Amino acid sequence: MIKQLLTITFLFGLGVLFQPLFAQNKEVISLSIHQNPSWTKIGTIFFLYYELQLKNGGTDTIELKTLNISGQNKSYLNLNASKLVERTKSSDRENRNLIIPAGGSALIYIELETQVLKAETIVNKLEFWIHHQTKSNATASITTALHPTVTKPTVLGKPLQTGLWTAIYDPAWASGHRRVFYSEKGKQFLPGRFAIDFMRVDSLGKYASKNTDSIQNWIGYQNAILAVADGTVSSVLNDFNESATVSQHKSPAPEQASGNYISIKIANRQYAFYEHLKPNSIRVKPGDKVKKGDVIAELGFTGQSTGPHLHFHLADRDSRLYAEGLPYVFEHFFQVGRYANLEDFGNSPWQHNEQLKVRQGRPLSNAVIEF
Ligand SMILES: [Zn+2]
Repeated sequence: MIKQLLTITFLFGLGVLFQPLFAQNKEVISLSIHQNPSWTKIGTIFFLYYELQLKNGGTDTIELKTLNISGQNKSYLNLNASKLVERTKSSDRENRNLIIPAGGSALIYIELETQVLKAETIVNKLEFWIHHQTKSNATASITTALHPTVTKPTVLGKPLQTGLWTAIYDPAWASGHRRVFYSEKGKQFLPGRFAIDFMRVDSLGKYASKNTDSIQNWIGYQNAILAVADGTVSSVLNDFNESATVSQHKSPAPEQASGNYISIKIANRQYAFYEHLKPNSIRVKPGDKVKKGDVIAELGFTGQSTGPHLHFHLADRDSRLYAEGLPYVFEHFFQVGRYANLEDFGNSPWQHNEQLKVRQGRPLSNAVIEF
């Protein structure tokens, strides 16, 4: 975790510099990076995911205004309040995400992309209002910098066999993987940063034949799940039963969201996680060596889930919750289409495109792919 407390310049409405009045806030408002990220190249694009942490240790409420992210000669992102609110999660009790109460904090989720990479410092400048109880409001800004390195993406084999699969994820999804931090002993972790939920569909966009309430009718149900790389099975959980129908399913507590799962250690500090597996379908146990392509389990409907699917992610520790999600790419797959909106899934057909062979890539959000 990188923490930088930087000088804050305060400007009154008329533009008068007035620092000393709010000197108490200098020490207590901080902007930091949750974890220093690395640029990862996929195809011709470099991408960078990270999270900004804002802490308001002062006695006044803060309201976020703008966020500007820039490199040496390049502006990466300029967000006004209406765009910033979509990327921010505040501790405000009324869920006003641009309002950071006294003693509160906020997380801002950032995804950057570039085709031309330079070794440069990236500066994040956040502008905000300070709402004083007794004095007139003031604007202020705080900056923090990061120095990303470049890493090669981890290349994985396919996690599933034949068929069409929708790769469901969306960084902007307010309650999705990317947004769910877990705390352990005062430390925060974001395991689902690059998680994908794979749901099988047919060429018309149907995910179930006949009655969609019966999980037996879901075309992805009981499909074989494969080891994405050579490795050693690290953890296995087979404690959960399934309900026969979607409507009878009871969601477990958040810490049991994975349902039945397997983790495989594929490299030093790299664990592949497969979640929501079918009860008693797991064919491996901790310590087993697996080869890329081995069938390890069947797709199921356990844990926190709205229908049978495979949750897949890569993390730096063997923990479902208390680990950081790592980027990865698949060796190759075909992209055949995409859902314009996740809400269309199950309701209307996906949009077909010309079959595109992708090498060492990751599926676009809500793309329909075939491994
Ligand atoms: Zn998931």
